[in-house]
Amino acid sequence: MISPVPFTSLDLAELAPIIGAERQATLLETAAASRSALDGRAVVHVNSTATGGGVAEMLPTLLGYTAGAGIDARWYVLSGTPPFFALTKRLHNRLHGHQGDAGSLAEQEHSIYEEVAEQGTPGLLEALKPGDIVVLHDPQTLGLAPALRGNGIHVIWRCHIGVDEANDATAEAWGFLSRYFHAVNHFVFSRPQYRPSIIDENLVTVIRPSLDPLSAKNISMTGPDQTAILRYTGLLGEPVGDPPSFVRRDGSNASVERRAQMIQLMAPPEDEPLVVQVSRWDKLKDMAGVMTAFADYVAPTGNGHLVLAGPDVSSVTDDPEGAEELAHCQHIWNELPMEKRRRIHLACLPTDDVEENALMVNALQRHAAVVCQKSLAEGFGLTVVEAMWKGRPVVASAVGGIRDQIDDGLSGSLIQDPTDLAAFGTVVRKVLDDPDRAGQIGAAAEYRASTDFLPDRHLRQWAEVIGGAIS
Ligand code: UDP
Repeated sequence: MISPVPFTSLDLAELAPIIGAERQATLLETAAASRSALDGRAVVHVNSTATGGGVAEMLPTLLGYTAGAGIDARWYVLSGTPPFFALTKRLHNRLHGHQGDAGSLAEQEHSIYEEVAEQGTPGLLEALKPGDIVVLHDPQTLGLAPALRGNGIHVIWRCHIGVDEANDATAEAWGFLSRYFHAVNHFVFSRPQYRPSIIDENLVTVIRPSLDPLSAKNISMTGPDQTAILRYTGLLGEPVGDPPSFVRRDGSNASVERRAQMIQLMAPPEDEPLVVQVSRWDKLKDMAGVMTAFADYVAPTGNGHLVLAGPDVSSVTDDPEGAEELAHCQHIWNELPMEKRRRIHLACLPTDDVEENALMVNALQRHAAVVCQKSLAEGFGLTVVEAMWKGRPVVASAVGGIRDQIDDGLSGSLIQDPTDLAAFGTVVRKVLDDPDRAGQIGAAAEYRASTDFLPDRHLRQWAEVIGGAIS
């Protein structure tokens, strides 16, 4: 029920050429102060999947640099049963203000929830000692809090989801989760608005996520390398060439071996601009809306192809709705006239090898003329800053943490009503038609990402939270 996840220790010095000497010096000072304050205590993160989604994306970086700072850092995954993940997906949807399925959040659901937590607790306690710090991520893991706190562990709950405006759905989800809040020492949210009023604001720190500029997802890549990966995996042109080689984060050599599973008539031509959205197959990411907007408002008015890329749906174990949403998208695609279908491509990216998957996403985001994130709700939306870091113009819904990343009209475009397909499609068309303006927006986006969304800022904030928890 609870399993350790390996990760690579990362050298903070590698960030110096990217963040500059001044930021690097501050980071090293923070690292030294944290190491001494922790005095051998472990910092342990627990979430519910090692692959798929923003949390699994961020943890290897956060943990890797923490370990690189000489701190005892560990990562565990709590696995669950299908009823447990159906329940936690319900909580996920409702915390985003959406009903999700029609299921209840009553005593029976507390039993399902607590049973998984009880099964995960012994394995975790065995690895910990009183005084250690455990960071529990998202609703899936919060049920572990009472047993951990009861054994002298400092518990921080990091909730990555939420909405600015509470409604009946959010109230129901918070009502369910609040039973476990008494066991949490400190809370972390991505936006101040996500804190439910039941939690004292003095117990909350707001931390926006960050990306790792040196990971396979974000490392710089030459044009020919991008094309080689996209061609080999079937995402562009004819699938040709040898498996492209790459160097892993731990320094070992590897190659991109697997191909994407494509739902398409023919691969996108190499000389056509691509509109890309990379997301889990989740209703709230609205891949279906992107497709309809593209078909109705982008395809009829000019060139371009659309690629909707998500993980192989069997691989994201904590998201039971993925297969259903992919089937829904495929159904919409099947119903489109041939001329539009030809220009729309659904890609399922293999996730057996996380770095191989990340390189495919990296190449796709870099190749894109426009990156979209037309979410109906979004905790933060790491895909947005990933594209910004790559100098891409992003067209995204003005929801949740996306608003903290893009200055509308300056470093990207925000669509106020996430359900307005015409507005979305019209802006995508404008960006496609004006490459000079797209280039300026991309440059501003890259600057914004490098200023606000790199690991040094993120690590410093975590050092403060952890320092506060043990003081
Ligand atoms: N992602 C990926 N492969 C995929 C689809 C998504 O690596 O096939 C990554 C994406 O690049 C990003 C993360 O999953 O790093 C999604 O994080 P985000 O915050 O955008 O959304 P979440 O899935 O956490 O709701």
